[in-house]
Amino acid sequence: MTHIRITEDSGIPLLGSLYFGIIDRGTSLLQVRPSCGCNLNCPFCSVDAGPASRTRATSYEVSRDYIVSYVKEIARFKGDGVECHIDSPGEPMLYKELSGLIADLRAIHEVVTVSMQTNGTLLTADTIRSLESAGLDRINLSLHAIDPDLARQLSGVPWFDVTRVINAAREIAKSRIDLLIAPVFLPGINDAEIPRIIQFAREIGAGRRFPALGIQKFERYRYGRTPRGIKVQSWWQFYNRSLKPWEKEYNFRLIIRPQDFGTVRRPMVKKCFEKGEKTTVEIRAPGWLNGEMIGVAKDRVVSVLNCDREKGNVRVKIVSAKHGIYIAVPA
Ligand code: SF4
Repeated sequence: MTHIRITEDSGIPLLGSLYFGIIDRGTSLLQVRPSCGCNLNCPFCSVDAGPASRTRATSYEVSRDYIVSYVKEIARFKGDGVECHIDSPGEPMLYKELSGLIADLRAIHEVVTVSMQTNGTLLTADTIRSLESAGLDRINLSLHAIDPDLARQLSGVPWFDVTRVINAAREIAKSRIDLLIAPVFLPGINDAEIPRIIQFAREIGAGRRFPALGIQKFERYRYGRTPRGIKVQSWWQFYNRSLKPWEKEYNFRLIIRPQDFGTVRRPMVKKCFEKGEKTTVEIRAPGWLNGEMIGVAKDRVVSVLNCDREKGNVRVKIVSAKHGIYIAVPA
């Protein structure tokens, strides 16, 4: 695996990529991605992350100063009420300067909330204290099963110990950090576990300022993994056959909306390309996928699929420009 450290001198911008930097989807919430490695191999991973990945060839790490300088500028543009959500496509706790990054983000005038997602494997009483002192407001904890064997199976690694994650959840609930438990519902696999997770969230008092549970729908992705035995639901089935009946049965709020997090619509940072447009990019680094390269044009990252050039200029056609994430193929 090639490791790329992205600094201000690297010539790689922090907008335009799904893998690192900042993602702005036109709201007051900014996704902040300082790194993209993972220590688990979940069989349902939407980005095929982890040591056993079959498609990921590179890992990225952005220097703390560089990513903070970008967030400062975008937060000024967005105005008061920004949430920074650290949600690398991987495990954010693998980022070495995480507490420092949280403290820096929390110090930005327009930022009112700093939150983070984690699989919980690296949380201990000490790391939770350090995240709390840094000013972290909320942890979205991925906990997909309480049953130890199923939880291990869903982590994809033999060393996974759900007791540690459960203890960490209890510890967070006692701290100043808000806890949102975020299981992925895998119909046909962890159906019996969701009620246990709801009861656990209630028992430990998760969710004070924010909702206690954020059950996620499993979706199939082109470069993701799909576990055996899953019965993929439509959004209608997810809401009407799962969330609503569970809400009623357990008298617990499960349908959550962006407003519950204070997220409101805000102008997006300038869009630089449209789908179908042709442009010339300069290749600056290998991509996350095999056969992909990181190109740069107009101060944005453009990920070029099926690219056989390792440097120089390449003429490309933009095939996707959704939410300012640019994907292209050679033209
Ligand atoms: S689902 Fe999350 S924790 Fe699991 S392998 Fe993917 S990125 Fe890592």
